[in-house]
Amino acid sequence: MSYFDNNATTPLHPNAHEVFVKALSESWANPSSPYRLGAQLRASLEICREEISSIFGVSHDEVVFTSGATEANNSVFFALSRSSSSSDRVLLSPFEHPSVTDAAEYWFPKRVDFLRAQPDGTICISELEDYLRISTPPVLVSIMAASNESGVVQPWKEAAVICKSHGIHFHCDSTQLIGKKNVKGLSLCSSFISSAHKFGGPKGVGWLMGKCFSPFLIGGQQEKGMRGGTENFAAVSSSHAAFLAVENSCIDTSELAAIRDRFEHQMLKLFPDLKIIGCGARRLWNTSLMIMPDFENFRWVGKLDKLGFQVSTGSACSTSKFGGSPLATALNLSDIESRRLVRVSSYFSNSSADWAALLSAFDKTFMELQEESRDSAVISL
Ligand code: PMP
Repeated sequence: MSYFDNNATTPLHPNAHEVFVKALSESWANPSSPYRLGAQLRASLEICREEISSIFGVSHDEVVFTSGATEANNSVFFALSRSSSSSDRVLLSPFEHPSVTDAAEYWFPKRVDFLRAQPDGTICISELEDYLRISTPPVLVSIMAASNESGVVQPWKEAAVICKSHGIHFHCDSTQLIGKKNVKGLSLCSSFISSAHKFGGPKGVGWLMGKCFSPFLIGGQQEKGMRGGTENFAAVSSSHAAFLAVENSCIDTSELAAIRDRFEHQMLKLFPDLKIIGCGARRLWNTSLMIMPDFENFRWVGKLDKLGFQVSTGSACSTSKFGGSPLATALNLSDIESRRLVRVSSYFSNSSADWAALLSAFDKTFMELQEESRDSAVISL
């Protein structure tokens, strides 16, 4: 498989595809309808909710099905702003996805503080502890589990425990962690979220899990009144199937991490001036965010695409279309460094042969780019 942009989205898992298609043709009724067809769907939907909640160790009424991670993140900040005063502040990691940062700035205008970024792409847990000791601590702390850009894993478990001991709501954007086979401890967070298309499920469905929500889509009593609107049973059941496929697989993620590490090692041999963001920190097993030693990332991405490999310039939401990269800003990367960021993100279907082929493609691309720049130098003379 030559697709290496799985942090942006993953292909639909065959089980999820099967469940989705079957649900579209057979389970199209409205789960709120007062006859057996509706009641059966309602029961199936609640079974999905029950199984998801038990895997994460939360109660079934602490799982709300949403349209994805963006909605889930937004609704947490909305809910907390409703239950707090107009002077209450929130504290974020500097690496958050825009659906966290922008929602925080919208619902807590001019009342958003940021933890400092450490050079390896993590936050410092003792700085968080200091923050919570001040006389008016924040009402909400939000730290992502793992960065969509660098794959760096934040000390979210420690942060969850510390916030709990201070009675502060701890929200964790766990979008990139869920589906990578490491979900233990998420119930320590006051709230956490997922997005199905990051783990082989369909787009447009996510889960908001945890406590303290107030209704965020009004006008219907679905999802216990939290989120009105007819439930998308096909998407929910398909997301459930995708998640079970991941959780029940017996793939060793440390082996996958070793394959990624080998790739990085070889890349450093090919490009001694390459920089790998977060390589000294704990990272997801699938992600490699590199500052290329030469040439703009769009040129790398375009050429690699022509060779049949899909990689990214960073996160899909940090391309110029969506605004800058939160990580580049947090780490104070220069403009040139930001424009040389290339992200490679694998998933379970990428083999070591795929990584080796990607390495050769980088090599070939470099030679082509060098040749082009030599030619253009001649032309410009
Ligand atoms: N948070 C993180 C960390 C993400 O990676 C993404 C997707 N790039 C989102 C939130 C938003 O997810 P969705 O597309 O489901 O709204």
